[in-house]
Amino acid sequence: MSSPAMCLARARRSLVAAKRASSGSAPWNQPRVAAARRSPAARPHGASCAAVPRSDGAGLTPPAAETSSCFACPICAGAMIRRASSSSTGGGALACALGHSFDVAKDGHVNLMVGRGSRATGDTAEMLAARRRFLNAGHYTDASNVANALIARALDDFLTRDTGQGEDDREDSKTMAIQGDDVAITPRRRRIAANKRRSRAARPAPAAPPPPLVVDFGCGEGWWLSRAIDAATEAADAGIAPGKMKNKKIVFAALDASPAAARLAARILPPDVAEVAVADATGAATPLPLADASVSVALSVFAPRRPSELWRVLRPSGVVVVVSPGDDHLAELRERGTREALGVLDVAGNKRGAVAEAFVSVGFVAEAEERVAGSTALSLANLRDVVGMGPSAFHGTEESAAALEAFFEARAIAGEYGERRVRVTKSFVVQCFRKPLER
Ligand SMILES: [Zn+2]
Repeated sequence: MSSPAMCLARARRSLVAAKRASSGSAPWNQPRVAAARRSPAARPHGASCAAVPRSDGAGLTPPAAETSSCFACPICAGAMIRRASSSSTGGGALACALGHSFDVAKDGHVNLMVGRGSRATGDTAEMLAARRRFLNAGHYTDASNVANALIARALDDFLTRDTGQGEDDREDSKTMAIQGDDVAITPRRRRIAANKRRSRAARPAPAAPPPPLVVDFGCGEGWWLSRAIDAATEAADAGIAPGKMKNKKIVFAALDASPAAARLAARILPPDVAEVAVADATGAATPLPLADASVSVALSVFAPRRPSELWRVLRPSGVVVVVSPGDDHLAELRERGTREALGVLDVAGNKRGAVAEAFVSVGFVAEAEERVAGSTALSLANLRDVVGMGPSAFHGTEESAAALEAFFEARAIAGEYGERRVRVTKSFVVQCFRKPLER
């Protein structure tokens, strides 16, 4: 079994056991707010959630399996635990210490949309189905690989720092350098070295840092995060970062405003490794359901975002990986006349510049930028999906469908196996921004 998955095997077993043993039939998409006895403001942020008062008598039954959730309560911002349900139909619940409780759907996702955020609209089931077909066909795999390499590098940095391995490496290399330079090991040097070793051994063991958390903000149907999880697992297994990523726990989470998207994502993301929630993933209407400085790596693919909220939830030295369309992405579909007929929205020019400006203005440091450009050959079905998966003015109208077919007939050429395809430009900009350790 892969290393991150192996580390989380215990969580998976308890989750599976919890799913098998569960009860409760309240609607999963409605937050059950049980007796918030104190003002949310009076509660210290991030306090322990070991004992959650329940008003439904569930506390009388033997304690169900509980695991900590990476999500914060969207009402009081407190830490939450995931409790297995005692029913065979439910997926349990997430609850904070104040008793705010959110049912987990059977597929594993949880709806954390509250207040003004619940008015946020997301992608429809048809758009998501088109997107999944198109992405699974592999047209955007190269962009995903570039984003995943940046994610893996950031995770490697965190795991090295969190395990203190980097510090020990530096100490050891210092000692080796002294020996290598053939410096005389005097009794005094030996005493100093021994004292250093003793004080290192006497240091109280620091509390284990939480595992790195990777969150996809606006995950859609989950393809990008699913590939990021696979890539992190493969990097560990292949020993690309030996001793660092191997056998280390990494936690993943996905947020999307669309309940249909969260359902689809929850079905393809491994439940032992990733948590999925319906929430305003921009944090514009309501704060993101994540604690301050809790996220190591944020992923934002073709999604609206709010850099100031990402700044709040990112750990110091955490990174945001942003994937946006390049100026000439799908240029053939955006030519004058074609764009209007197909109902395809135009890409705002110089998107990469606007993204960089938005991040740098709140304090992020631009760390990497890669352009992924090329072309891909699309069948008529692929074309229907690529137009249907995005926001479009004339979704599904007869006129736009006919225009798309005419576009295909006019440009398609037979490929190697005789199937006719249209070649279109693809272009992505993958940017990486870091929250510095100190401002
Ligand atoms: Zn709460």
